[in-house]
Amino acid sequence: MKISFKLLLSTIVVMALALGFSGFYFVNYVFETSLKREIGQASDESSVLRFAFETAVLNVPARYSVLPDTTVEEIASNLERGGRSTSRLIRIADERKEVLHTSDGFAADERLLQQTEPDAKSYRIIETQGSYYVHTCAAINALGRILYLETMKDVSEVFTERAMGFSLYRKVTLLMLLVGTVIMHFIAALLTKPIRLLTRATRRMAGGDYAYRARQVSRDELGQLTCDFNRMANALEENIAILEEENEAKEEFMGAFAHELKTPLTAIIGYADMLRSHRLDEEKSFLSANYIYTEGKRLEAMSFRLLDIIVAKKGEAELSEVQTAVFFAYLKEMFTEENRGMQFVFSCEDGSVWAEENLIKTVLVNLIDNACKASEPGSTVRVRGMWVEEGYRFEVEDEGIGIPLKEQRKITKAFYMVDKSRSRSKNGAGLGLALCAEILRIHNSELTIQSEPGCGSCFGFVLGE
Ligand code: ADP
Repeated sequence: MKISFKLLLSTIVVMALALGFSGFYFVNYVFETSLKREIGQASDESSVLRFAFETAVLNVPARYSVLPDTTVEEIASNLERGGRSTSRLIRIADERKEVLHTSDGFAADERLLQQTEPDAKSYRIIETQGSYYVHTCAAINALGRILYLETMKDVSEVFTERAMGFSLYRKVTLLMLLVGTVIMHFIAALLTKPIRLLTRATRRMAGGDYAYRARQVSRDELGQLTCDFNRMANALEENIAILEEENEAKEEFMGAFAHELKTPLTAIIGYADMLRSHRLDEEKSFLSANYIYTEGKRLEAMSFRLLDIIVAKKGEAELSEVQTAVFFAYLKEMFTEENRGMQFVFSCEDGSVWAEENLIKTVLVNLIDNACKASEPGSTVRVRGMWVEEGYRFEVEDEGIGIPLKEQRKITKAFYMVDKSRSRSKNGAGLGLALCAEILRIHNSELTIQSEPGCGSCFGFVLGE
């Protein structure tokens, strides 16, 4: 069942109960008040008649020591008509409760008469021939006799009013329920609109439309829910985009990896086949075996690099305080004009950084190696270390071929080479900068590249002190 329908149904039930009970209570209250008033009037009338009877008895001639029945009847019929257009309904009974006089139309039975004590007054509500009456009974003390006077007062109007009240209230209740249902239908539709919009958004997203968002139409809890849902959808969309990107990167990596394996393997297989199927002279045999050895070495170096990247990706750096001079001493020893045919200028500000020494050495060696590969023999490579606002900055600057701007974003991807044949000829496989990026990531740092084709490049990164 729809929530708007549940809301509508529960409101109708509550409204029906509230209107029903309040209506019943109100009409009944009016009825009881009117009936009480009528009973009071009937009782007053009974007292007045009793008094009138007793006064009339005082005028009975003194020769009677006991009031005769005929006089009682006479007084009763006088009282019946006394000063009114319609005759009263009365009944007089003697001390043995035998009826002496009954008005025409007095239809009450004698139950009340039998129950009434000589010193008491009583009443009850009776219904005869579709009309309601207040039936009263009271004793009269007349000339040594105890007589009983009964009256009947018509109160049918009060009962008719109650029936009309109930009927009117039923109609009003029905009308109010009808109007209430229509109004509540719109209110329920309005209140549940955010839920409908959320449902639509959920379905659209489940169908793959991750950019779809639910419209926020209120500022209440449901509005907050919509807002939170949209925030969740944003996070989901971002994560999906990241996953897609990662998946794409993985596929790219696999493709590049397969390609990088294929070229040396084809050569190795070719030379090995030649060695086993032809009788080659000594020189050719050496060249073939040497080719197999060099390509094998290249594959081995590549697999070590890949392993290093995987380890760096998964691992964490074991940081310790390292003097910056330690790095420069190591680099100065490793890169000399004699062994590289290049000019190296090292400048280092003193201090210490938090780093895993060997990993940062790997980064610096890779960067200087790349600078050498990109430069003409004899040109200068500058390696600097300086304090900046964020920490200690290492820079490797060359005067080499440079890197076009659109390539700069890609060169840290595994197997990416700007000029494949040039890189391969220099024993590159496009893994060095990918490894550097991973190492710097676990040091909470990143590689910055400033480069212009033909003018050289400057690679740098900052470490915390
Ligand atoms: P490689 O093993 O090929 O050197 P890297 O990941 O270290 O792999 O470098 C990726 C590519 O970035 C290189 O193939 C090269 O094209 C480019 N590159 C890296 N450093 C420099 C540099 N200093 N100057 C110009 N190009 C560079």
